[in-house]
Amino acid sequence: MEECIFCNILNKKIPAEFVYEDEKFFVINDIAPKAPIHLLIISKKHIFSVASLEEEEKELAGEILFLAKKMGDDMKLPGYKLVFNVGREGGQMVDHLHLHLLSGKLEELP
Ligand code: AMP
Ligand code: ZN
Repeated sequence: MEECIFCNILNKKIPAEFVYEDEKFFVINDIAPKAPIHLLIISKKHIFSVASLEEEEKELAGEILFLAKKMGDDMKLPGYKLVFNVGREGGQMVDHLHLHLLSGKLEELP
């Protein structure tokens, strides 16, 4: 997917600092943070969105949540918000599966 921002970050064609990486996911800081901590947890597999998840991707869908929990634990976050934007009407701008993890001053989160 040459035109996909997140595929290009994974392929190192667009620079980004990886906060975490394993065989299925990578985590970066959002370039335009909406909270003091704003991570993007991104699947390495190019899946368009939650709406296009297939039955065979059930496990991966669970793992992305579990990785969010791990990031929260590792960073000792007292609380956080997890957001999937789905489709243009749902605010999704990058058509590659990713989970937003927002933390900081929770009362100020969107
Ligand atoms: P969404 O609107 O759910 O598709 O979220 C896409 C997110 O990707 C937005 O919050 C953007 O700020 C973020 N973003 C876009 N380009 C980059 C980039 N090169 N590095 C890090 N985050 C990015
Ligand atoms: Zn992609």
